[in-house]
Amino acid sequence: MATLNTKTGQVVDRSVLDSMLRRRMFYTPSFEIYGGVSGLYDYGPPGCALVTNIVDLWRRHFVLEEDMLEVDCTMLTPHDVLKTSGHVDKFADWMCKDPKTGEIFRADHLIEEVLEARLKGDKEARGQKVVVDEEKEAKKKKKVKETKAVKLDDNVVKQYEEILAQIDNYDGHELAELIAVHDIRNPTTGGNLLPPVSFNLMFQTSIGPSGNLPGYLRPETAQGQFLNFQKLLEFNQQGMPFASASIGKSFRNEISPRSGLLRVREFLMAEIEHFVDPEGGKKHPRFDEVKDVEMTFLNRAVQLSGSTKTEQMTIGKAVESGLVDNETLGYFIARIQLFLLKLGVDKKKLRFRQHMANEMAHYATDCWDAELQTSYGWIECVGCADRSAYDLTVHKNKTGAPLVVRETRAEPLRIEEWQIDLDKKKFGPRFKKDSKTVEAAVDALSQELREKLALDLDQNGKIEVDVEGVGSGKVELEKDLIKIEKRTRVENVREYTPNVIEPSFGIGRILYSVIEHVYWSRPEDAARGVLSFPPVIAPTKVLLVPLSTHPSFRPLTQRMMAKLRRMGVANRVDDSSASIGKRYARNDELGTPFGITIDFQSVKDNTFTLRDRDTTKQVRASEDEILQAVKSLVDGEETWEDIRKRLPEFTGQDVE
Ligand code: AMP
Repeated sequence: MATLNTKTGQVVDRSVLDSMLRRRMFYTPSFEIYGGVSGLYDYGPPGCALVTNIVDLWRRHFVLEEDMLEVDCTMLTPHDVLKTSGHVDKFADWMCKDPKTGEIFRADHLIEEVLEARLKGDKEARGQKVVVDEEKEAKKKKKVKETKAVKLDDNVVKQYEEILAQIDNYDGHELAELIAVHDIRNPTTGGNLLPPVSFNLMFQTSIGPSGNLPGYLRPETAQGQFLNFQKLLEFNQQGMPFASASIGKSFRNEISPRSGLLRVREFLMAEIEHFVDPEGGKKHPRFDEVKDVEMTFLNRAVQLSGSTKTEQMTIGKAVESGLVDNETLGYFIARIQLFLLKLGVDKKKLRFRQHMANEMAHYATDCWDAELQTSYGWIECVGCADRSAYDLTVHKNKTGAPLVVRETRAEPLRIEEWQIDLDKKKFGPRFKKDSKTVEAAVDALSQELREKLALDLDQNGKIEVDVEGVGSGKVELEKDLIKIEKRTRVENVREYTPNVIEPSFGIGRILYSVIEHVYWSRPEDAARGVLSFPPVIAPTKVLLVPLSTHPSFRPLTQRMMAKLRRMGVANRVDDSSASIGKRYARNDELGTPFGITIDFQSVKDNTFTLRDRDTTKQVRASEDEILQAVKSLVDGEETWEDIRKRLPEFTGQDVE
């Protein structure tokens, strides 16, 4: 499949890019010499450096900028925690089995694949141009049934397109219906499939030798942050709002991992849990700073109508119009965009898609995904969910831990309410072992009911209360046992469970998408791939290229290398005998943004040339000036254009 580089206008072939990434060891399938395991990858040196730099930028952009409280929690999680959070029961996808071959398919992906293939066949039959996804095609080689050119009825085409636009919105029952109605079968054999069943995505294990403590590898970092809420609030001196953050591996036993790094079984996540007071409309104190950020939105209603038409507006407008629910959610959506653009994401290939109701995770009330367009289609790279008070509430209810905020009220609150007094001395002997149950049932009576019962008690001298499990389920209470009166209570402390806005980043997905966005090839030679990473995330920032192996060059090279290291600038020396053009080409593939050439002139007067990867232009200046320019470029304080304007251009060596 091809992808368009919108800056160069080049159509980039994914297979060429893939082979370059493997050759340069950005990442590689794990356990390959044992045949590999799908969905598991190892990162090589440039991949590791890229991950580190992305994570480093993430820390600076979010954790430092917002004074977030970072935690690093264990990945092994006991069953009870994930049972309470809802993951044991609900963190699942739907899978279908072919009873004849034993093959297993993820139901929504299968429907998507088959319908897309039929639409492609229809286009072919109508003589329209078809863009081919090579990876999918290779897999489909045997799938003659589904890919042959068959013209479909116009209504069927429309129906398929509508299904595809909301493929993430179907539950198991609806998926089963789609499979039956549209006769979806095993694409390879044409065999019928069993109805979809739910498959939990967590890897199960047991902690300790006894086997008595079942657990799971965490599917997200979030739970560790919620469980530490009370301690973090205390650390923050009870200050609200505040955010925690965590970077670490998560594990999901994906039914059918595919698309390289995009759907894997173990991946690095960077997650933020921003705790906010649910009262007062979830305002954000820094929203003004981002309100003019222009963004592309794909809203829920549009998707439900079967379309994927996006609209552009500022985040300020989106929040004002109610498209994005509140300022805090809006603030983070805008900050996510700013972060992605710093990484080199192509803005034209970025959109924010709102989740449809069924698609949302069990804990979410609203959710927007930052999606990046790649040769695999639009990919969710960052999720930004409003998890409401769900997690803190369920953990508080289960454990009794006070996962709440207690705030002294500026003005004490006077509450008029119906209060109940029980005569405990008479209550015990009367209800014996049921006393506690009856008491709890009385305590739980609503204000509305209390008002009505107060009237009953006054008129009849007794009332009847429902108490499950005691006698007939109804208990009579006379005037001498119970008193119900309207009184004023003064509340000095307000207690509430915060809501949580959660931006959740998959580092591998972002890394791969950025690679696709910044990849291009030199027009004079399609085989010469270039990765135009912004300097801040480039694995290596500077290539040192001595033009000669003459011993007089060595001290200069060593000195430059040492000085760059001291400045914290990652650099490498290429003193091989390859031509200078070749040496630069090798580093274009690694995305090294700058090159310092050490030539005979350098030996004489300590001047050096600095070359820019993207334009291949060079400037020449003294050692100090070159080092300072590099530092300023790498720190993002100046652009190459700035440097070109202030340092003399150099056209001496032909480095191509
Ligand atoms: P979720 O909790 O499902 O919203 O996922 C949060 C983020 O994790 C997503 O936006 C992705 O970037 C990433 N992610 C989720 N599942 C996978 C996977 N199987 N492989 C790689 N990244 C993933």
